[in-house]
Amino acid sequence: MRVTSFPLTTLRDAPSEAEIISHKLLLQGGYIRRVSSGIYAYMPLMLRVIEKISLIIDKELINIGCSKLLLPQLHPGELWEKSGRWEGYTAGEGIMFNLKDRQNRGYGLAPTHEEVITNIASEIINSYKQLPVCYYQIQTKFRDEIRPRFGLMRGREFIMKDGYSFHSSENDLKIFYKKMEKSYENIFKNCGLETIGVDADSGAIGGAASKEFMVTANSGEDSILFTKNGSYAANIEKAVSLPKRSKPIVEFDQVLIKTPNQKTIEDICKFNNLDATQIVKVIIYLGEFDDKTKVPIAACIRGDQYINEIKIFNLLNKIYDSNLIKLSIIENKSSINKNFIDLPMGYLGPDIPDKIINENSLWEKKWIRIVDYSASELKSFISGANQINFHKYFNSWQSLDNTFITSDIRNAQEGDLISLDKEETLIEKKGIEIGHIFQLGQKYSEKLNAKFSNSNGGLENLWMGCYGIGVTRLAQAAIEQNHDNDGICWPIQIAPFSVVLIPTNFKDPIQRKLSEEIYIKFVKNDIDVLLDDRDERAGVKFKDADLIGIPFRIIIGRDAIENKVELVSRSKKSIIKSSTNDILENFINESKLMYN
Ligand code: ATP
Ligand code: MG
Repeated sequence: MRVTSFPLTTLRDAPSEAEIISHKLLLQGGYIRRVSSGIYAYMPLMLRVIEKISLIIDKELINIGCSKLLLPQLHPGELWEKSGRWEGYTAGEGIMFNLKDRQNRGYGLAPTHEEVITNIASEIINSYKQLPVCYYQIQTKFRDEIRPRFGLMRGREFIMKDGYSFHSSENDLKIFYKKMEKSYENIFKNCGLETIGVDADSGAIGGAASKEFMVTANSGEDSILFTKNGSYAANIEKAVSLPKRSKPIVEFDQVLIKTPNQKTIEDICKFNNLDATQIVKVIIYLGEFDDKTKVPIAACIRGDQYINEIKIFNLLNKIYDSNLIKLSIIENKSSINKNFIDLPMGYLGPDIPDKIINENSLWEKKWIRIVDYSASELKSFISGANQINFHKYFNSWQSLDNTFITSDIRNAQEGDLISLDKEETLIEKKGIEIGHIFQLGQKYSEKLNAKFSNSNGGLENLWMGCYGIGVTRLAQAAIEQNHDNDGICWPIQIAPFSVVLIPTNFKDPIQRKLSEEIYIKFVKNDIDVLLDDRDERAGVKFKDADLIGIPFRIIIGRDAIENKVELVSRSKKSIIKSSTNDILENFINESKLMYN
């Protein structure tokens, strides 16, 4: 390509709307243009990056026997009703854009494709002899995100690779899932990215096991915890660990402790010479279930620890028949629910009664009481006394009348041990999720009646896995991981061009002739080369080349007369002086070094 026919549309200044560096560089480099909130146009440079990533994905997936197809983006609501996801995805905070056709039938723009592919599988797969099979596509997805932000990181329209596999047994699904995990590692490595695979919560997609692939970056929206040697890695949503030891309470002769105006755990510790590990805090939530019941939930946890709401969701959904759909924290003087009694902070203890009398009003509810292990293992502790201005010393959990569900509902933290017998502690970092693989099991096949006849002649629900990669998010995450003060430093594997030729003065006939010769040689050798044939100052061309992040530049300057040019690496800034004859070979050698 020549810049005169492949125009660069770089901006002098970064648009102020961009909050993180990768977003800023994509806009400034002319890769993307914002059309509306979370909706972007992919300009020619961007499309080249997307196509390169897609080719890397195709190669790996075809290698493990996947077949590429293209599914519709407009989904009939009917199908989503069958899987039971229509309501959750379209009502309230649901993320599916939805619309009506002229016959008033409901449709949605696809945020994901489990329903459509499972329905097709139910029609085309009859026998175990057709299994396993895996279909995938690379296509635009739509999600009406609550907070679209950071450019392509959280868009409302973005490109995803999504794949779905079908198996005749759970074991076969597990074997394929492992293969896919390896393929994902190859894909990200071949894109020039460093990723960490973490155990993950399956979220709204559902299923048994799931793993996310994270690019570590301060701008990441996920928190991940891992050990230095890689023996353990998990998303905070899922991570399990042992908190640091608590300080035992040595002597405590009073049962009621006067704590006027001591509102926080820090206050209680400071004024009563206590440690936060000696306190049990009780956080109250209002849980809303899909059978329309609303139940107050008391979650008890050690004073220095934090509640993990996703673990509460998973726990309650496992125990109860109806599904918990919303969990709202109730702060004092809360207006979230008018039926909820006003309770000052620090008021409640774990022995909160079903009947509460406060400010002369009686409030009676059946509570769900959950105790995190960090609190349940305390032999004695201090907590709220269910009286204003008092806390209480508890010398056992057993003496309390209430029934408690004891479970892990705690966020793992940096510094926690992963087990008692290992000295390894957790490190916490922010991560960008660029891929996610799931063992779905029979969740969708059961709902959509997708059966096959097994080797015994019986009918069985198909076993399924699903596998996503955020293609556009991956591209931006690569910039988050690879940039400097002058702009993007693309890994060569996904750069829009591998090399840019910069004649410092294109009007000079010698430079021009040499540039054209090198250009043709590179094109003939299938190298993605860009020739900056603009009649611009060298400084402008260098600045643009740095900003858009082409991994190598070849400068054709004054020495052109002696058939000499310079090969400069974008990220290392190394300069190799080369004769025109050797430039192709030198470039190939240097770019190979960059691959590894
Ligand atoms: P997140 O937790 O970030 O909202 P998710 O877990 O809902 O993502 P999946 O359903 O697992 O996303 O989708 C597969 C992949 O698609 C993700 O790993 C991510 O890389 C990408 N992705 C998801 N949502 C977006 C979005 N709004 N914009 C860009 N990429 C996205
Ligand atoms: Mg995910």
